[in-house]
Amino acid sequence: MMVGANLAVLIFWRAAIVDHGSLKAALAGIRQLTQPGAWPLPSARAVGVILAFAAIQALLTIVVPGRTALGPLTPCGQRQTYKINGLAVWLITIAAYWLFGIQLGLFPAAWVYDNLGSILATCSLLGLIFCIFLYLKGVLRPSSPDFGRSRNPLFDYFWGVELHPSLGPIELKHFVVSKLGMMCWGIIVLSCLAKQYQLQQHLNSSLLLSAILQLAYIAKFYMWERGYLGTLDMAHDRAGFYLCWASITWLPIVYTMPAIYLAEHPVELPPAIFVVLLVLGVAAIAGTYNADRQRFWLRESSGMARVWGKPPVLIAAKYHDAQGQERNSQLLASGWWGVARHFNYVLEIAGALAWTLPCGFRQLLPYIYVVYLAAMLLQRSFRDEARCREKYGSYWTEYCRRVPYRLLPGVF
Ligand code: NDP
Repeated sequence: MMVGANLAVLIFWRAAIVDHGSLKAALAGIRQLTQPGAWPLPSARAVGVILAFAAIQALLTIVVPGRTALGPLTPCGQRQTYKINGLAVWLITIAAYWLFGIQLGLFPAAWVYDNLGSILATCSLLGLIFCIFLYLKGVLRPSSPDFGRSRNPLFDYFWGVELHPSLGPIELKHFVVSKLGMMCWGIIVLSCLAKQYQLQQHLNSSLLLSAILQLAYIAKFYMWERGYLGTLDMAHDRAGFYLCWASITWLPIVYTMPAIYLAEHPVELPPAIFVVLLVLGVAAIAGTYNADRQRFWLRESSGMARVWGKPPVLIAAKYHDAQGQERNSQLLASGWWGVARHFNYVLEIAGALAWTLPCGFRQLLPYIYVVYLAAMLLQRSFRDEARCREKYGSYWTEYCRRVPYRLLPGVF
C-alpha cells in the first residue's frame, strides 16, 4: 500500500497536469519512469515553502485564540486536550493568500498549481521522514499511555504507534490533518482558480461551482472541529503513514482533483445544472454536518439534546475500557442514525459527487476522489462496525436490530 500510494500520486499528477486528464496515457508513461523530467522530483524551493507553511500554521495554532476542548475517553481512560481555533486559522490563511497573492501580487497566486509536481514529490518525501519521526517518538518517548506496537515494525510505521503524539502544546495528528492537510486543500482550490483566471481572464461556471462546494465543505469541517475530535481518525486511528502521510500527500492531489482538472479543462455548465448541483451539494454538506452534530450533541448533552425536534431514541450502552473498568455510553437510534447506521457516509459521497459532476464525463480522472471515498467509507463502515460490535456487544446487536441497514435504507 505504501509503495502503491506513492506511485498512484505520481500517476494522478501526470494524468492531470501532463496528459490532459488521461489516466491511460499516464499509465503508459510509467515505462518512462527512469527518463529525466518524466516525473516530478522534490526541490529545495518546495522544501522551503512547505516547511515555512508548516511553521506558520504551527505559530497560528499557538497564538490564535480558541476554546480548549477535551477529546473522548481513550482506551487508557485519558482525555486529550485540544485548542479549537481551526476556523479562525483557516480564514486567516485564506485571507492572507488572497491579500498577498492575488491583491498585492507578492507571490504568483497560481504558484502551487504550477509547481504541483515538485510540491507533491517533496510532500511525499517529508511525509515519509515525518512518519519515521512519529514511529521513533512512539517507541522511545510516547506522549501518553495510549500507544502500542505489533511485532512488525513496518506495520507500526504504516499504522502508527501513538494515539495522541504531542510536541509541546500541539497534538501532532490533529495538527497534520486539520492544519496541514485540510488547510492546503483550500489553498490548492484557490490556486486552481488563479490558474484558470490567468489563462482565460475569466472563471468558468464549472470550476466556480466545484470550488464553492469544496470551500463550503472545508468551512463545514472547521465549524465542526470540536466534533471531529470524536471521529475514528482522532479517537481510534493511530498517528502513522495511513493517516499522516495521506493527509500531507494523498489529500493534496486526490481530494482536490476536480479543481485541478477543471483549471485547464473547463466545462460550460447550463445555468439549470449549475443550480441543481449547487442545491444538491449544499444539502449534502449540510446533511453531513447535521448527522455528525446529532451524534456529538447527544453525547455532550448526556442524551438530553432533541433530534429533529423530538426526544432522541437512545440505547444506553455499557462497555469495558482497556483497564477493564465499566463505562457508560449512548447509541442514537433516531434522526440520521435511525435512517441507516452510517447514512452520514452516503451524504459525504453525495457532496463529493456534486462538486465532481461539473467536470463532465470526458475523463475518469476527476472521479478518482468519489471512487476512492466510496471504497474507503464502505471499508470503514465494516471496520467501524466490527469495532463497535466488540466494544458494545449486545447493545450493538440491539442497535442493529432497530436500525437494520448499514448505509442505504432498504438496500444495504
Ligand atoms: P462516524 O461519525 O460514523 O463515527 C463512528 C463512531 O461513532 C463509532 O466508532 C462509535 O464510536 C460512534 N457511533 C456509532 N454509531 C453510533 C450511534 N448510533 N450513536 C452514537 N454514536 C455512534 O465515523 P467517522 O469518524 O468515520 O466519520 C466522521 C465524519 O467524517 C463523517 O461525516 C464522515 O463522512 C467524514 N469522513 C470523511 C472522510 C474523507 O476523507 N472525506 C473520511 C472519513 C470520514 P464510539 O466508540 O465513540 O461509540
